[in-house]
Amino acid sequence: MPMDPRTYERGLTCVHCGLCLPACPTYTETGHEADSPRGRIQLMLGLAEGKIEPTETVRKHLDLCLDCRGCETACPSGVIYHELIEETRARLDQSRTLPLQGRLVRWLFFNIFTRPSRLKLALLPARVLQKLGIYSLLRKVGLFGLLPLQLRKMEQMLPSRGPLWPVRLPEVLQPTARASTSTPAIGFFAGCIGSVLYDSVNRKAVDLLLAGGAEVRVPRAQSCCGAIHHHNGQHDPAAEMARRNIDAFFPTGGAGVDWIVTDIAGCGAMLRDYPHLLRDDPAYAQRAVEFASKVRDISEMLLELPLPEPRHAIAMKATYHDACHLAHAQKVTAAPRALLAKIPGLMLAPLPENDMCCGAAGTYNLEQPEMSTRLSRRKLANIATTGAELCITGNVGCAMQIQSQAIAEGRKLKVMHPVELLHAAVFGR
Ligand code: SF4
Ligand code: SF4
Repeated sequence: MPMDPRTYERGLTCVHCGLCLPACPTYTETGHEADSPRGRIQLMLGLAEGKIEPTETVRKHLDLCLDCRGCETACPSGVIYHELIEETRARLDQSRTLPLQGRLVRWLFFNIFTRPSRLKLALLPARVLQKLGIYSLLRKVGLFGLLPLQLRKMEQMLPSRGPLWPVRLPEVLQPTARASTSTPAIGFFAGCIGSVLYDSVNRKAVDLLLAGGAEVRVPRAQSCCGAIHHHNGQHDPAAEMARRNIDAFFPTGGAGVDWIVTDIAGCGAMLRDYPHLLRDDPAYAQRAVEFASKVRDISEMLLELPLPEPRHAIAMKATYHDACHLAHAQKVTAAPRALLAKIPGLMLAPLPENDMCCGAAGTYNLEQPEMSTRLSRRKLANIATTGAELCITGNVGCAMQIQSQAIAEGRKLKVMHPVELLHAAVFGR
């Protein structure tokens, strides 16, 4: 099976030291070398060299990888593991025939999850039932337990509240406070799943940016970041989305933005990866580098803006879970903690295995529900040792995963985005 020589070189930088093994969630769970980063790298190099065949067993070990990138943080040799697994998956996908249910789930990913209007429409019946108070009753009588595992997992992830039809953010919003120097123009990346399921978090993020003296632009032409396609081996559509986003935030001949900000770690990681995605596109390669250099997580941006003092105390014991796509992919760990430290009354208890994947990993929780559930149980058990009543995390997918697992286990745990807490501390609502 061929492999791009540049990706192959990445694999050769592995010196087999094994320091990544304890950081790997799947290895930690199974103890199997083929479920570790080191083992998978050997499998992928073996495939590329034609020394091994892409048998079902080989595929199984590679499919089980969360692409969480915990191994990259742990690796002293700087192996860029995600490029290896993403290319290998794309190549393996070309010769794979998925069963009907797998095809249906993929179709939902590519055609519904990545299109906010379609997603809103698909969720409308559930939202109506929630408003009428019938949905929780159906959950209680176990009706959804009849669904196949993957669809059941999808159902469990649906937040229990939300507007019937989330309205899009305005295209341009003026600052509500004057910045001391110049007014930065911030392009806000709303995300597809984020803008539908976590619309209120987006709105709170924008409120804070405006209060920090920024002008916020939400270009209508922005599309899905491409992560769902990219992580499922569909690189061409992902690259097309990347081009669309570059054009949306930096229109040719128009005024670009100073920064591109998102409150969704998964999207932020993908946006920062555009230079890799478009490296062979002569028209966009350089634009992708410039675009990625402007991407900031909301926590980083809010730290740089002159925000009003958070005066409203939040007297809670909380713990912070590092989303993989924030901590490992974007190396953002200090900024959210620094923001949370400003909130009066908030006690932050350290979380054991704070940067180990919760099992969400994009669409992994729907494709590998068994391992995903093992990891979310592990996360919940770790959270329980802290005695926290609140878990804070900077990614929609993690929030949904941890919250739904807490509900399934009957635990009283609230899950919130740092932005929600900061907003409450600043505005008192
Ligand atoms: S990406 Fe995550 S699951 Fe995959 S090998 Fe690395 S640490 Fe393990
Ligand atoms: S830590 Fe890096 S070099 Fe060591 S085995 Fe893991 S991937 Fe290879």
